[in-house]
Amino acid sequence: MSVVAAISTPLAVGGLALIRICGDGSIQLADKIFSPYAKNLPSQMAGHTCAYGRIVRDGQTLDDVVLTVFRAPHSYTGFDTVEISCHGGVYVAKEILRLILDNGAEPAEPGEFTKLAFLNGKMSLTQAESVMDIIGASGEATLKSARLIKDGALYQSIRDISDRLTAALGSLAAWTDYPDEDLPGTDPGSVREAVEFALQRISQILDDYDRGRILREGIDTAIIGKPNVGKSTLMNRLLGYRRSIVTTAAGTTRDVIEEELRLGELRLRLSDTAGIRDAADEAEAMGVDLARKKLDEAELVIAVFDGSEPLSETDRDILERIKNRRHIIVINKSDLPEKIDLKYINDDNILFVSANTGDGVEKIREKLIEMFKLGGLGEGSHLFANERQRSLCVKAKSFLTQALSAIDGGFTLDAVTVCIDSALNELLALSGERATEAVVNDVFSRFCVGK
Ligand code: GDP
Repeated sequence: MSVVAAISTPLAVGGLALIRICGDGSIQLADKIFSPYAKNLPSQMAGHTCAYGRIVRDGQTLDDVVLTVFRAPHSYTGFDTVEISCHGGVYVAKEILRLILDNGAEPAEPGEFTKLAFLNGKMSLTQAESVMDIIGASGEATLKSARLIKDGALYQSIRDISDRLTAALGSLAAWTDYPDEDLPGTDPGSVREAVEFALQRISQILDDYDRGRILREGIDTAIIGKPNVGKSTLMNRLLGYRRSIVTTAAGTTRDVIEEELRLGELRLRLSDTAGIRDAADEAEAMGVDLARKKLDEAELVIAVFDGSEPLSETDRDILERIKNRRHIIVINKSDLPEKIDLKYINDDNILFVSANTGDGVEKIREKLIEMFKLGGLGEGSHLFANERQRSLCVKAKSFLTQALSAIDGGFTLDAVTVCIDSALNELLALSGERATEAVVNDVFSRFCVGK
């Protein structure tokens, strides 16, 4: 394998930058550019030790650095690796990298170090993917989940499932080959049990996926209501600062304004839309269309009504539209005399607030947290798969469901075998044991250079 190198820290000014050189010959390459202040050259250093010295080009010092040597197989990639910590200026780091490339290294592709680790058997594909999730983690729960996967929990879970399925396939093969023998441990019940076990575990992974996505991406939330009911004021209240223009003239919010509201681990992606009504002009008409679209697409709708006004036709239309959506109903302007007719609003999720005074706004926060209660994380049960892993789980689940109906419907053993084998294939693609080169390349292409 050739030697590859890259700057692993962001290309920005910072205290330190880290340059990684990896592959057979990386330590010898380091000998050529590093001059230690103490006695040892990199090739004389033991693994997991570091040395202070200078990077020298044409007899001139480029920078004072700390150099760490990792010897195969005890490195991230499993290959010989040298890491150079230099000063964090973009120029310095780039010059050192250039010197390394001039001495024969190739620039590393995005994710190449992690890909080498995978190809070298240092980690499974799910573990490699979790490295990216750790880098991208936006909160404690996402990080915890990514860490669990990095520690191999998802891999282990998939292994448990595939081991059971492999054993079931073994039984099926034995029956086919020796139909008249009474082989111990091979009864139809045990195959059915294995399939049920696999289905239950995969369903759990898929359930967790949904929770994970909420954590990673936040909840797409639309604030909906007629003009002037106080949507913008409420949004500003929830966010704690002024964002959209609040005026007394109806129809001022014309675009969809998006903001992120954080409630502990929960993130709502809030959009304040143009009020829903018949628009006065073309620009507003576009805004109203967007608002309707948002209402139909959002995962959560916060419907706002003006409590100081009787319920209108439009209000009822909104109530009708949100019935089957995840929603909360906010009756705003509780500081004014109540005129709204509540008997039309028969709902468990009603909250009375005054966006102007802030009264009751805290209740909205509490309600939202309760609605999306994520529960405690950490015991290994919450493994938030990524999109690739999810779609393979969905396929495996569908094959297993077919296997179950084949068993129950008295189909041939061959039919059952084919279904279980297909499910197993999906699972092995998930863990990387049977992933195609294209899949592997795709996974790593989404990494950053230097990881
Ligand atoms: P939007 O069109 O639904 O976004 O409504 P705005 O947030 O622009 O508010 C319209 C008007 O209602 C403004 O004059 C706000 O000051 C007023 N308003 C908003 N919330 C309250 C409230 O809780 N009480 C009272 N009295 N007025 C409010």
